[in-house]
Amino acid sequence: MCLAQENKKSVAIIGCGAAGLAALKHFTAEGSMIKCVSFEQTDNVGGTWVYTDRVGKDKYGLPVHSSMYKSLRTNLPKEIMELPGFPHKGPEDKSYVAANEMLKYLEDYADHFDLIKHIKFHHHVKEVSPLEGNRWRVTVIDLQENNVEIFEFDGVVICIGNYSNPAIPEVPGIEKFRGMKIHSHDYRDSSVFKDKSTVVIGCGPSGLDISFDIAKVAEKVYLSHHNQRVKNMKFPSNMVQKVDIKEVVENGIVFQDGSYQQVDSILYCTGYNYKYPFLSPECGIRVENNHVTPLFKHIVNIEHPTMYFIGIPTNTAGFCMMDLQVQFAKTFLEGQVKLPSKEEMIEDTRLDVESRLASGMRPKELHMMGRRSKDYYDSLAALSGLESVSPVVLQIYFDGIDRFMCDFSHFREDKYKLLDKDHYMVKFPNEEE
Ligand code: FAD
Repeated sequence: MCLAQENKKSVAIIGCGAAGLAALKHFTAEGSMIKCVSFEQTDNVGGTWVYTDRVGKDKYGLPVHSSMYKSLRTNLPKEIMELPGFPHKGPEDKSYVAANEMLKYLEDYADHFDLIKHIKFHHHVKEVSPLEGNRWRVTVIDLQENNVEIFEFDGVVICIGNYSNPAIPEVPGIEKFRGMKIHSHDYRDSSVFKDKSTVVIGCGPSGLDISFDIAKVAEKVYLSHHNQRVKNMKFPSNMVQKVDIKEVVENGIVFQDGSYQQVDSILYCTGYNYKYPFLSPECGIRVENNHVTPLFKHIVNIEHPTMYFIGIPTNTAGFCMMDLQVQFAKTFLEGQVKLPSKEEMIEDTRLDVESRLASGMRPKELHMMGRRSKDYYDSLAALSGLESVSPVVLQIYFDGIDRFMCDFSHFREDKYKLLDKDHYMVKFPNEEE
């Protein structure tokens, strides 16, 4: 089947969470020179924000995508978790909203821009491989009919999210442990931890949030980590900070300071790996030490520059970034502006990696943006002739992260409701790193 029509470029969008919806909105906007279809393996838009009780496999035998848990409230204000052009109409009295309120926002976005008609639900992308002339063959399984369908496209935009493939570190002695072991991907609620002792490994946003959730019912939560920023945080009385694990034994943990704790379960909050199982080797994309390569600006497949990845960078204002990345991809897919040469893209990427490593980032952190966000957004805008993300968004993002680190127990309270986004004080760009 061929979707090329009226000289428009045919584009496959893979995945229909926030990134896929933003892509659909821009690609189907009036005047767009793109004709697109979105393949979504589940029966809903929203991706991460769709809660399911299921863990392991879904009803079609595919790995469950969402890592959402029942109690989750966003860790950023909803005012910067909106896609440009469609304000969050969620509860007026609070900024930090529940997962179902985020999902409602995304469903409303899809309705408002009339996007559902472009989505093939229950369609799992099985394989993508390059054809002559920078075109693509996309093999899709219609899960309801159990049919294989093959399409050809001029471009592919990958919007499958980054939080579905658990990263589980090697822990000495782990095979001896008799209690329960789970990863945060499979965490749904705290009930199985009631009156039990648990060690939580890792204290990124999920590790902290889930530890606090479990501590409401658990006997004890031992939070094992090496994050200096968390050391002085205030914790509930049944939560104890521990250093990294030295060894696991049958019924407990020996920590690197020599102390021992008996525990009933181990909860890995050790993050996720980027994974693109449907890309054939000919696509040229590798994931090395959790770095997706070779990508120009964390978006463009340098080997085949009609393939774009949306949403890879972390530690940034994700929703605005994804919207900008989508528009960036659109500019080049439509041919309005030409990408730099392959050599220039390789060199730009090499310099980016070099400067990140020189600043002390670990190789597995090469997609983290943090204080580099503004330069990143500005560089996308400059290359494609688009408007960059407003500095106020980043200011709210950084202030939100500070509040989160300083006052984890209370940062979502109503007193922190963002009052006036339009008059928020922007300290950028003079602020120190
Ligand atoms: P996703 O939402 O993951 O959507 C990807 C879609 O692709 C899914 O619908 C999936 O079914 C589909 N898909 C995957 N593979 C295929 C395939 N082969 N074929 C067809 N379809 C496929 N961000 C924030 O800014 N603030 C927060 O507070 C926040 N909290 C979070 C809490 C948790 C527990 C998690 C896991 C993430 C959180 N995030 C948060 C990050 C969140 O993932 C992003 O905000 C955003 O929603 C990601 O959107 P996405 O479209 O890139 O990916």
